[in-house]
Amino acid sequence: MRKYNNVVKNVVDNNLCVGCGICEPVCPTDSLKIKLNQDGTYEPYIENNECDETGNCLKVCPFNPFPDEEVRTEDEISDKINIQGDHYGHSKAFGKYHSLHVGYAKTYREEASSGGIATWLLKKMLREKIVDAVITTVEDTSLNNRLFRYKIIDNPEQLDLSSKTKYYPIELSEVLRLSQNKQRNYALIGLPCSIKAIRLAQINDPEKWNHIIFTISIFCGGLKSSFFTEYLASKIGVKPNEITKSQYRVKNIDSSAGDYSFSCTKKGEQNPRILPMKEVGDMWGTGYFKPNACDFCEDLSGELADISLGDAWIPPYNQDGRGNSLIITRTVLAKQLISDGIAEKQLICDVITKNQAFLSQEGNYNHRRKGLSYRLKWAEKDNKIVPPKRTKKVFLENPIKAKIFRLRQRIQNESTFFWKMERNKMESNFEKNISATKKKLMFYTKLDHLFRKKYWIRKLKGK
Ligand SMILES: Cc1cc2nc3c(=O)[nH]c(=O)nc-3n(C[C@H](O)[C@H](O)[C@H](O)COP(=O)(O)OP(=O)(O)OC[C@H]3O[C@@H](n4cnc5c(N)ncnc54)[C@H](O)[C@@H]3O)c2cc1C
Ligand code: SF4
Ligand code: SF4
Repeated sequence: MRKYNNVVKNVVDNNLCVGCGICEPVCPTDSLKIKLNQDGTYEPYIENNECDETGNCLKVCPFNPFPDEEVRTEDEISDKINIQGDHYGHSKAFGKYHSLHVGYAKTYREEASSGGIATWLLKKMLREKIVDAVITTVEDTSLNNRLFRYKIIDNPEQLDLSSKTKYYPIELSEVLRLSQNKQRNYALIGLPCSIKAIRLAQINDPEKWNHIIFTISIFCGGLKSSFFTEYLASKIGVKPNEITKSQYRVKNIDSSAGDYSFSCTKKGEQNPRILPMKEVGDMWGTGYFKPNACDFCEDLSGELADISLGDAWIPPYNQDGRGNSLIITRTVLAKQLISDGIAEKQLICDVITKNQAFLSQEGNYNHRRKGLSYRLKWAEKDNKIVPPKRTKKVFLENPIKAKIFRLRQRIQNESTFFWKMERNKMESNFEKNISATKKKLMFYTKLDHLFRKKYWIRKLKGK
């Protein structure tokens, strides 16, 4: 089955690359380079003819369609790295864990996306010299086609620059190369697929990669291509080459956590322009500007990280516009750091149950796991190559659900296709072009809701 032993042929050409960037620094012949492609996501390409097909790149790729049995899925990798030790809880939805909390960091919450736990934790690790430096994300508009990048930070005071969620592609190649130049220990924050890639690299070549001693995963409902930012900015009169200071989660502290805005500052202007996300409609459930790879990813929380941080989308926490974090620790060290933060009164946290943690990500789970079983079956039928998954392939019995998953895939493709066509036009036909599929999706989603018991219970309660 396998013809070529590199990621370009096996991953990129099968439309499975998510653009994490880790394949580049493991290439022994320096043949791979990473670029932002025409669809607004990163991908590797082969720059010279020196690829020796040793397959190092494939071994670290989170979307390798042909992994070895011992690293087949997150389950096997988790057993192999065994970061939890012997005593841990387990959830089918978010993997092994030591503790579950919802809460916030008193000092950083306001400037953060959720409860500010990520910024607090990275600062704590630097201040207490648990790590020498952290690998995190910052704004950088010095290159024409890039708004954010990864950066190594060793001064805790600089970490405020890195807080807040960036719904934007950010790749690791450059920073991982840099991290290997000095003999230092690092903490790294990233999406679940990036953490998986780091774990695969550590399994494959421990000596080279064990300098990353702590990993933080943010929960993920899917990546957004750079087109997402362009699309939002266009709604407030800012062209692609005029975007600076994008913020994706501007809080409305007088409202609920879900009522946030996008903002960016047009080049040459002082004040940000604001776009309440409720004016744009559902960008997440519909799959706008999402890479195909994300539809074949079943790790919503970062099961292989020391700690996972997300949003607490359950009452009463989701009613608080100041934001709360869902916190899942998976190692003894991570659990201890959170306990210390609570004891030192820097963190305000409630212990939550496994079911509460699940409910706070239920929508994400349904699309990623239930939808995946269906997408896998379709991929098999269409003879498409996809990586092995834990989720079983089945055709959905519910025809409405099946239609919804199919339409979401179509929105993904059409949003990218039409935006590419329309992004530089004065009068964009994007909304007109995508409206037929969007209307169909809205129709079937409504129909699906009508058949749900929960919908009627909420209606009867007047919510
Ligand atoms: C693409 C994407 C999808 C997400 N989907 C979900 C979801 O479905 N459900 C959910 O509960 N949470 C999701 N999140 C995570 C959530 O938005 C918050 O980032 C998370 O709760 C951390 O909040 P905080 O207040 O603790 O972080 P803050 O203290 O604000 O710090 C944010 C930290 O995240 C890092 N970061 C931000 N953007 C990126 C990025 N693109 N790649 C790597 N690191 C980054 C920053 O470097 C910083 O360290 C998503 C985040 C992203 C980037
Ligand atoms: S997913 Fe990451 S490792 Fe795999 S090909 Fe893409 S950039 Fe490389
Ligand atoms: S959905 Fe999965 S593959 Fe896509 S960005 Fe998130 S973690 Fe990575």
